[in-house]
Amino acid sequence: MNAEAEQSGPMKFADLNLKPELLAGLKEIGYTELTPIQQQTFAYILSGRDMIAMAETGSGKTAACGVPLVQNVDPALREIQVLVLVPTRELALQYVREIASIARKTEIAAFAVYGGYSMDIQKSKLAHGVHILVATPGRLIDMLYNTPLRLSEVRTFVLDEADEMLNMGFIDDVEFVISCLVHEHQTLLFSATMPPEIKRLAARHLKDPVTIELNLSQVAPQSLEHQFQLVKGHQRFEALVDYLREDEVKQAIIFCNSRRNVEKLNDQLRKEFKSVESIHGGLEQSRRTSLFNRFRKMDIRLMVATDVASRGLDFSHVTHVINYDFPTHAEAYTHRTGRTARMGRKGFAMTFLTSGNLRELKHILKVNHVEPVWRGQPPDFDRSSGRSAPQQGRSARKGPPRRRRRGPSRAT
Ligand code: ADP
Ligand code: MG
Repeated sequence: MNAEAEQSGPMKFADLNLKPELLAGLKEIGYTELTPIQQQTFAYILSGRDMIAMAETGSGKTAACGVPLVQNVDPALREIQVLVLVPTRELALQYVREIASIARKTEIAAFAVYGGYSMDIQKSKLAHGVHILVATPGRLIDMLYNTPLRLSEVRTFVLDEADEMLNMGFIDDVEFVISCLVHEHQTLLFSATMPPEIKRLAARHLKDPVTIELNLSQVAPQSLEHQFQLVKGHQRFEALVDYLREDEVKQAIIFCNSRRNVEKLNDQLRKEFKSVESIHGGLEQSRRTSLFNRFRKMDIRLMVATDVASRGLDFSHVTHVINYDFPTHAEAYTHRTGRTARMGRKGFAMTFLTSGNLRELKHILKVNHVEPVWRGQPPDFDRSSGRSAPQQGRSARKGPPRRRRRGPSRAT
């Protein structure tokens, strides 16, 4: 299927023998060609094979599952036939929105259950018949214990963002959910990275899986420019303000490592800019959902966020992802910066760092195969490693750092 696809150019949904109502829905939402991950996985998913798939963020993994699974679901059987586990509520909402969008002209009902929302309402919706259920592990288990929810007709189990499930400590919950799937079923495992625990999980539960690895040498999207600026701690806020003023920031997510930092930066930024909001795991679910919706509609330009708000979310307008706090690990860098430059659009990742972050930075550059573009003076990696410093990127386009003299920074 691969070689074929390469020879004949991008595959089109119209050539796939899809149910007419599915094809009509895809047409309505403007999907005509399959993305590379969709091309590579379609035939396998349709045929019921187990699969391990690794692909860069924003590559269209949701529809890669959504299209063949909607094709396979039997609308007449009003039972859960596809179960999708995702690590966060926001991802659940986003996943189900994409599936519902794909299935808009079919009789197939997709629904999401997640914590922080009335279980009774979710329960009554489920009683009306749901074909594709998207769930976070905690709420699903709650419902398995406390409601008539049954998984006996599940034919396909999708584990999305498996590595994040692991990071969030959900692996035992995932194992429990899998243990509830007693009938023969297909398992599709999606993960950006493959830590040993995920490999073991796959080895235990997947039967003769096909492994699809896309662009692994280039974990980060290619249309993403990785900018870095070395700052002194007390100059960081000023540097951020300068950056936001100078660069053409249409919409940005600005990451901090804690709720407290998010709130602090939010307060500071509001004094300088309009259209600033903040989001973190401590907010009520309804508030988070409304913030996400406003951000998606471009009502909010600058969103200050913790990592909770980052994973897997698809905001197509985001032009800039800014690491105000240096990410705590290399994977966080990948996932944060994966919020922009989606589907081949141009995007910018800007990371502020202090000299104390240089060691971690080297690791991040290596793991993510990132070619850094330095704003201002590139750091001297030599001192610590004996290796040459990364070369100054092509678009140190703002020239040397502005050596503006200002009073004491407002940042501290
Ligand atoms: P991933 O899970 O790989 O990070 P998503 O599934 O969230 O990526 O998809 C990223 C974006 O691409 C979404 O906005 C989705 O609507 C869009 N998309 C997916 N497949 C197609 C397609 N075949 N044509 C056009 N847009 C697509
Ligand atoms: Mg995804």
